[in-house]
Amino acid sequence: MNAAQPRSLTIVGAGLAGALLAILLARDGWRVDVYEKRGDPRVRGYAGGRSINLALAERGRHALERAGAEAAVMRQAVMMRGRMVHFADGRTELQRYGRDDSEVIWSVHRGDLNLTLIGLAEAAGARLHFDRRLDAVDFEAGSARFVDERDGTCAQIGFAALVGADGAGSAVRSAMQRATDLGERVEPLGHGYRELEIPPAADGGFRIEPNALHIWPRGGYMCIALPNDERTFTVTLFMPNHGDPGFDSVRTPEQARALFARDFTDALPLIPDLEADWAANPAGTLATLYLERWHLDRRAVLIGDAAHAMVPFHGQGMNCAFEDCVELAQRLRGEAPLEDVFAGFQAARQPNALAIQQMALENYREMRDRVDDSDYLLQRALELELQQRHPGRFVPRYAMVSFMRIPYALALERSRRQHAILERATYGLDSLDRVDRGALDAEIRAQLAPLEQG
Ligand SMILES: Cc1cc2nc3c(=O)[nH]c(=O)nc-3n(C[C@H](O)[C@H](O)[C@H](O)COP(=O)(O)OP(=O)(O)OC[C@H]3O[C@@H](n4cnc5c(N)ncnc54)[C@H](O)[C@@H]3O)c2cc1C
Repeated sequence: MNAAQPRSLTIVGAGLAGALLAILLARDGWRVDVYEKRGDPRVRGYAGGRSINLALAERGRHALERAGAEAAVMRQAVMMRGRMVHFADGRTELQRYGRDDSEVIWSVHRGDLNLTLIGLAEAAGARLHFDRRLDAVDFEAGSARFVDERDGTCAQIGFAALVGADGAGSAVRSAMQRATDLGERVEPLGHGYRELEIPPAADGGFRIEPNALHIWPRGGYMCIALPNDERTFTVTLFMPNHGDPGFDSVRTPEQARALFARDFTDALPLIPDLEADWAANPAGTLATLYLERWHLDRRAVLIGDAAHAMVPFHGQGMNCAFEDCVELAQRLRGEAPLEDVFAGFQAARQPNALAIQQMALENYREMRDRVDDSDYLLQRALELELQQRHPGRFVPRYAMVSFMRIPYALALERSRRQHAILERATYGLDSLDRVDRGALDAEIRAQLAPLEQG
């Protein structure tokens, strides 16, 4: 690093990305200060607020490993081998994500994960300041105002450069936007979510298959459930904001029970406190955030949801945010001036963030509407066969995103070509008997070069 450069960085937000970046940078010798608006979760308990658990995949695991956090996190993770689809008629079917148990995703508890990362960040030498909400930034003076959430007092703190890891509603981003046009566009999904809980069974075990991500697809809306280490499941209902059903027509706990009794019949008896959960957990909104610029010269840069919030249907928001941290920390190891580091970081990550945002939107339709559809099942069967015939060459999108670390943009581009091949090969068919394997093999070899594991 150039001696003239500041070796200190100020991170705003000690959520998932902020805490992980703090570990990586502190270990590399940076002086790191992290300001977080919530209280210290080690003292007051975790005040999460949303998505109690998350799916962790290969990209996130790799980043955790780089930070020395993987073993601690994986001790509490629950394996999910595939989707357990709960059809409207009560049938269930496990649709595996990968070929075997080396290709799975993991359910992790957001609070436990955040606590682990915060502890490691502090142990690595980062200085954490809780109950400090970023309120305003004077980029000319290189100073930021933080409000103490306990008593409302303000402190003015000088900084060399700010990293905005303060999530979808980022205050750093708003401050940057005042200094320059970031080209911000927010696209609301028009659907929201609400969380409920399946408690442990009377004998203390799981009430339904623990090693799966459960889905109740119902066309325009759906429920999912992810297992927790303490034998519970977090259920999330995703539904349009308006319509029938929609969050404007299903408002009260009684209306929620009626919806479950009609459409999620087998889930209802698993959620004994449905009314209380409904009343306690507010509905969350979902949107995609697009930004043309992620940095303000050498003075500020955005990572994670602050730069590219996405809808949660590929389970990749955190995984992608963790990849950001590894990329930024790696670039900060070099000799380049901060402005070039931030510009290089944006150039490397932005196309990939756009690609996973797109795939996350597309996966909502697949999860709620396609997993029980005959065209989809036929294409999926052929996809699995082609994956076996052409290992490393014809790799399903889900596998490229979840089990590999190739750039998301490459996963999107290849999966589009593969999808076109599958559609053409199965067009008008109701079984795979008449598919011309020889022609397909030739087409695949011509169109898809072997993938190198990223
Ligand atoms: C319903 C749902 C399900 C999801 N499921 C998955 C999943 O399965 N897998 C996955 O990979 N991703 C999932 N995600 C996405 C994931 O939650 C986010 O991508 C991830 O939390 C982003 O991390 P972050 O650190 O950028 O932001 P956050 O985790 O939001 O952290 C931001 C931090 O900044 C703090 N902060 C905010 N404002 C200020 C301020 N003014 N001053 C100081 N501090 C501030 C906040 O308190 C918080 O601690 C899901 C999201 C939702 C909504």
